[in-house]
Amino acid sequence: MTATAATVLEKPTDRLELLAQTLFRPMGADGVYARTGLYEGVVDALAAMITRYRHPRAEVFRFPPVMSRKMIETSGYLKSFPNLLGCMCCLQGSEGEIRETVNRFVEGDPWTDDLTAGDLVLTPASCYPVYPIAAARGPVPSEGLLFDVACDCFRREPSKDIDRMQSFRMREYVCIGRPEQIQAFREDWIERAKGIADRLTLPYTVDLANDPFFGRGGQLMAVSQIQQALKFELLIPVMSEEKPTACMSFNYHQDHFGEVWGLHGADGALSHTGCVAFGMDRLAVAMFATHGLDVDAWPASVRGALGI
Ligand code: ATP
Ligand code: ZN
Ligand code: MG
Repeated sequence: MTATAATVLEKPTDRLELLAQTLFRPMGADGVYARTGLYEGVVDALAAMITRYRHPRAEVFRFPPVMSRKMIETSGYLKSFPNLLGCMCCLQGSEGEIRETVNRFVEGDPWTDDLTAGDLVLTPASCYPVYPIAAARGPVPSEGLLFDVACDCFRREPSKDIDRMQSFRMREYVCIGRPEQIQAFREDWIERAKGIADRLTLPYTVDLANDPFFGRGGQLMAVSQIQQALKFELLIPVMSEEKPTACMSFNYHQDHFGEVWGLHGADGALSHTGCVAFGMDRLAVAMFATHGLDVDAWPASVRGALGI
């Protein structure tokens, strides 16, 4: 370690720096961190707590951090958030061509122009892969479908802020069914999520929200999303009181995924979908920001809720 790094470690200039230095180690890119055991212990405990709220009928899937490019194209993600998508690319030529590229790199010349897009993207949200799986099963049963999904997500939003990562963990409960089933699922989950935040003694507000749709056309979509109250967030002050951090979101997609994937009930009506998303990394950061870095000193009730 260099003397400068050591000095910084010893004298963090503020609360957020101390948080970042204790919970993470830099990995050479903004928003991509090595996570310490202290931090992961809390992520695991939060995940276990969320599992205790799982509906008995919910089916579990854990997705890899990549998914089919074709599927993300079909899902509409590219139209709404093209700036956030990470696409896998690689060297796909003959041995001779690939050797030439490597030689260019060895010579210190640029080599990345030889990369071509592969058939994978980095999964941007953990619920995207579940809709085609559900659709492949035929009509959605009248009681609806429930899923418990999770994966490492990627979004191209590099930031030095502790609460905005490029690579982060998302856990979701997803509901597929009739509109009134999705509305009820979401209303129940907003109340349940408030209960979780209460048990964790996290200060929060719940507010209407919009997704960061791309470009000027996106602003219209954002306004319409607010008007129709399609997205709510549970916000916790992590960086500041004025700009609290969205740690959970409650989303109603109407029949968007139903239409895209051909999800429908036995009566032929298009299915609606909704999800509640837990930002596992943001929740863990919020716990340390609220209760401090010494987990043993956290309130007994909070430790009890987490089972630690
Ligand atoms: P924000 O408004 O803060 O960008 P979002 O609306 O993009 O959040 P969602 O798309 O609803 O977030 O994602 C579900 C959850 O995943 C969020 O509530 C948050 O907890 C988490 N999340 C989203 N983006 C990030 C990120 N860049 N870093 C860490 N967690 C994230
Ligand atoms: Zn989702
Ligand atoms: Mg976002």
